[in-house]
Amino acid sequence: MSLPWEDAVLSTMQDVPLTVTRILEHGVLVHGRSRITTWTGEGEPQRRSFAEAGTRAVQLAHALRDDLGVRGDDRVATLMWNNAEHVEAYFAIPSMGAVLHTLNLRLPAEQLVWIVNHAADKIVIVNGSLLPLLAPLLAKLPTVEHIVVSGPGDRSLLDAAGSHARVHEYEELIADKPTTFDWPELDERQAAAMCYTSGTTGDPKGVVYSHRSIYLHSMQVNMAESMGLTDEDTTLVVVPQFHVNAWGLPHATFMTGINMLMPDRFLQPAPLAEMIEQEKPTHAAAVPTIWRGLLAELTARPRDVSSLTQVSVGGSACPPSLMRAFDDLGMRICHAWGMTETSPLGTMARPPAHALGTDEEFGYRLTQGRFPAGVEGRLIGPGGERLPWDGESAGELEVRGNWIAGSYYNGPDTEPLRLADKFSEDGWLKTGDVGTISPDGFLTLTDRAKDVIKSGGEWISSVELENALMSHPAVAEAAVVAVPDDKWGERPLATVVLKEGATADFDALRAFLAEEGNIAKWQLPERWTIIEAVPKTSVGKFDKKVLRRQYAEGELDVTRL
Ligand code: ADP
Repeated sequence: MSLPWEDAVLSTMQDVPLTVTRILEHGVLVHGRSRITTWTGEGEPQRRSFAEAGTRAVQLAHALRDDLGVRGDDRVATLMWNNAEHVEAYFAIPSMGAVLHTLNLRLPAEQLVWIVNHAADKIVIVNGSLLPLLAPLLAKLPTVEHIVVSGPGDRSLLDAAGSHARVHEYEELIADKPTTFDWPELDERQAAAMCYTSGTTGDPKGVVYSHRSIYLHSMQVNMAESMGLTDEDTTLVVVPQFHVNAWGLPHATFMTGINMLMPDRFLQPAPLAEMIEQEKPTHAAAVPTIWRGLLAELTARPRDVSSLTQVSVGGSACPPSLMRAFDDLGMRICHAWGMTETSPLGTMARPPAHALGTDEEFGYRLTQGRFPAGVEGRLIGPGGERLPWDGESAGELEVRGNWIAGSYYNGPDTEPLRLADKFSEDGWLKTGDVGTISPDGFLTLTDRAKDVIKSGGEWISSVELENALMSHPAVAEAAVVAVPDDKWGERPLATVVLKEGATADFDALRAFLAEEGNIAKWQLPERWTIIEAVPKTSVGKFDKKVLRRQYAEGELDVTRL
């Protein structure tokens, strides 16, 4: 790097690259006894120490290089649940200089095909239980040369796949490999891992994390103002490893020795409750949908989940009713905001010291939280003007920082894409989220720009209506979307899922919104419908695009009040 003036005093500090390799080596050497426990559904869970997983990561790197010919920045994809083998891949692939590409196993088939081809993945490491998903796609994946299968599953599905890719067994491949690897010297700006956004609008977009961004992000995850866990803790990592690196937890844990409890494919409320009772995690991380399911399970079949005292919730807004219910269970939710593009830790809602124990505390916890030093935020108004942090001016949130994307992957040997609608001219990420920031730096998101209901020149927050509805005792879930309206341009349509055996009439729900939810009269929905479940995206968020389409095509039975 050139210096701005000639006779500048040079720093006397060493310039050691920030790499995933370093995180791996540290985890093995200093926290070798910490554990990754993977739920197996029956019998004892699989238990593996960081030292064992680290050795197996070394052996996997040998297998990938020596047997399968992985070189340079080849992309090695994983189609896997959260488990110890996936953690091994997380470390082996970037440490050898290649690029880990985590595939979202809940994406529609055609999107998966698009993504694998776009990234030109050479290898796919796949859990046996996911072969029914992968096998039918293989004929359309010309770049894939090798499939490595791990864990139980029907291998014969690959016989008829019509692919030239060679099939290997994970355990056979790594057995007897050397247990040390002469890791290459890497540039910290090199690509370490990639993850595509779930493509709710247009084609999925590839975000490529560097060694440096992962390292710095992991340090942030470990700070007390963020998750702040230690080797006394066990974190239940429900958020998938294919969803923004499981919010950075596999890397962060190797830095500080936090034990990991991995649910593998057992993500339903009952096994989650069982693993909490049996393995006693102290922390867990997941989107609100998972917690709502767990809450219903614990209400129907109470269990001893008292070990679990800290819960990180993000991915979509945490409804106040959920936070309260978890407080009653002794599990303190900490609300966080982030995106695939932000690695994902953007903000986290730890109330300021002066608010603890006061009436203000709960309000602070409901915000999306404060930015850490590594992330800067600003609000941009409809005319492109910068808005003040006054807690009232609402605009689009833009961010920049050490682990924030500045462009998207555009295929091998091409320049990354700087899309004008995603990045400002001065390089900030346009998040597409709308909200306010208080004078003391707390971000409150009112909506996604595309979900806001624009009624007669005013904005109605769909999230606010949903939260109010979900605090009604008869309501299990509720999603509110904008629908066209002749008079107002758009009006809210409330889609409601009732709790099992519950009944509610729409007039009563509307009155509840006004009286208990403090929703202004002009914001109250007049269109209502009962649905069986809110459609969800591949990462468990409300899929409002589907609801809007269902409404447009007349598939919903709508009552107009
Ligand atoms: P996708 O954009 O495909 O849903 P991401 O996981 O990257 O995938 O989603 C990021 C978006 O999720 C954010 O831009 C924001 O709209 C939403 N989000 C994440 N966390 C929160 C939160 N705590 N509150 C409200 N919205 C959130």
